[in-house]
Amino acid sequence: MEENLLIQKLRELLARDFVHRKSIESDLYRSEEKYRMLIDQLTDAIYLSTLDGTFTGCNRALLEMLGYSYKELMQLSVSAIYAHPDDRRHLLQQLIDKGEVRDYEVQLKRKNGELIDCLVNSSVRRDQNHEIVGFQGIIRDITLRKKTFELQRAKDLAERANKFKAEFLANMSHEIRTPMNAIGGMLQLLNKTNLEPKQHEYLDGMQTAVDSLLQIINDILDFSKIEAGKMELDNRPFSLQQTVEAIISTIRFKAEEKGLELVLDMDPSIPPNLQGDPLRINQILLNLISNAIKFTPEGEVRVTIRLIDKLDHKARLFFSVKDTGIGIEQEKLQDIFESFTQASTDTTRLYGGTGLGLAIVKKLIDMLNGAIMVRSRKGQGSEFIFELELSQTDNVQPASQSEQEKDWSTVQDLQARFLMAEDHALNQLVTTEMLKGRFPSLQIDVAETGRQAISLFEDHNYDLVLMDVQMPEMDGHEAARYIRTHFPKPKSEVPILAFTAYATSGEAEKCLEAGMNDYISKPVRATQLISKIMQMLDASEQFSKEHFLHESKVQEHISFEYLNTVTEDDEELKLRMMRIMLDETPMELKSLEEAAAASQWDNLRAVAHKMKSTMQFLGLEDTLETVKFIEVSARERTHLEQIPEKVRSVVQVCTRALGALQEEIDRIK
Ligand code: ADP
Repeated sequence: MEENLLIQKLRELLARDFVHRKSIESDLYRSEEKYRMLIDQLTDAIYLSTLDGTFTGCNRALLEMLGYSYKELMQLSVSAIYAHPDDRRHLLQQLIDKGEVRDYEVQLKRKNGELIDCLVNSSVRRDQNHEIVGFQGIIRDITLRKKTFELQRAKDLAERANKFKAEFLANMSHEIRTPMNAIGGMLQLLNKTNLEPKQHEYLDGMQTAVDSLLQIINDILDFSKIEAGKMELDNRPFSLQQTVEAIISTIRFKAEEKGLELVLDMDPSIPPNLQGDPLRINQILLNLISNAIKFTPEGEVRVTIRLIDKLDHKARLFFSVKDTGIGIEQEKLQDIFESFTQASTDTTRLYGGTGLGLAIVKKLIDMLNGAIMVRSRKGQGSEFIFELELSQTDNVQPASQSEQEKDWSTVQDLQARFLMAEDHALNQLVTTEMLKGRFPSLQIDVAETGRQAISLFEDHNYDLVLMDVQMPEMDGHEAARYIRTHFPKPKSEVPILAFTAYATSGEAEKCLEAGMNDYISKPVRATQLISKIMQMLDASEQFSKEHFLHESKVQEHISFEYLNTVTEDDEELKLRMMRIMLDETPMELKSLEEAAAASQWDNLRAVAHKMKSTMQFLGLEDTLETVKFIEVSARERTHLEQIPEKVRSVVQVCTRALGALQEEIDRIK
């Protein structure tokens, strides 16, 4: 019985152990299954391999990553999946040395030969004796990530390169413009000298070449400015009618030269006061119309502008420039607005140009939130159409240039003293010659930097300042601001004309903001420069209009009548007196100027007093009156504001008289 009981107990124990074992096994199974599923669902690939390089297990992600079936992979040597066998060798070495490897970058090869970039994290597997039996690891496919990263890097690099290119082009074109402007100016001067007809012809050819070079440089400058995001738009009231008419009138002669009809058809219902950037609209239309004329051998060029609708103070406008010219081939039409594109390779040879014009037009229209398209057929003409939306304004636009302009041709000479701040020697020469050629009595002092200009300005009184914007040390803006803020009135109110390298809207505004009265863009044309200067002097309160010398009022000349009477024709005495005057007058003039500039009225009175006799001896009666005026007003402290101008006139007349005096001395000797 006891034995039976024992056997019974044993059985029970065994049975319980069996059940327990069974339950452990099924738990184990479930847990393994759970992990297997988890591992299979991982997107990262997992593998087990042996020391001798065969796979012993993997998840589904590895099969998908490499493109093999489970069976195929298990029969494959591990090294077969490496694109570069050396990579596996290095990986194994590191594993053996350190036991594990993190983020090892390799290129693996898929079954179809495709290469993929991967990161491997792996460790060694050991048996009970701590011997390495194989490896296990996780592989992550980073091909996409790497491509995206590389693309981003390439994009960043390309953008940087593009910006650099644009800045380089902008700088280069600026550098090229400066000497080109000087050449243009020299040609204008040369044109005024006595030349043979043949030489005139050559000169005209050179001028045309300079103009077209400048046009190309301007295009490049514009293009690169837009690319570099540096083109600023203006937003001011303007009349579209005036803008368009001005373009047509400047370009009409080109159409007439070719016997083409240039027709403007403008909707009269277009609001007269619009707001926007007339300079850019001008540029767009000028480009399209010039192209139309250039590519049309006969027929007409028609510019049509219509009002599409008006809503909430906004006017939508339609523009068309249509020609009857050579047209453009269909396949070239889609990339005609790309930069450096010409419709045919013959174009440059036949018509010149860089293929930048339309690219600029397109970019400008994009900037103005408009849209442009082209319709054309080879041999049947082209039509460029675009739309723009412009705001209407209640502000009235300033009168057009032509309304403001006066005729200055009757003014023969100008008694004035200018300060020119310009660092470029050739430009100094060109501007000086242009002005002196027109006004022989004009005195121009030249400063090469803004700082030098200020120091000259401190010592002298000027009627006008010609200020180049770009100068070393202190630029034109700074110098103008300095003049406006650091000097007492009326000195600080001197008219200042800015010379800008390029007529961009931002540049013009900057000049006006710095306190300059007006600006002129290089290359400077003599007529334009002179008319601007005359307008400014005419408007200036400090400048006496008597110094516009009309034909009848030529500058007074030296006369020896009085001297002859005083010396009773004693040549010896006369010569001695003349020598004294020749020696002393320059010093007196200098003292006169310095005393006036420094407002040292007592000194000024004394010098003026002393100078009276010289004026009398030289027969300069008008100037004698001026010197007397200076003396009295310095003594009484009255009309002081007129002194700078009076002093200047004395200096000019006397400087000239001294030349004549020297000639007379040479003659008598
Ligand atoms: P380009 O300075 O070469 O004229 P554009 O960008 O202004 O550069 O024009 C690009 C090209 O488009 C021209 O070279 C020409 O082949 C073509 N094209 C432009 N306008 C016209 C037109 N009105 N008729 C025919 N072809 C044109």
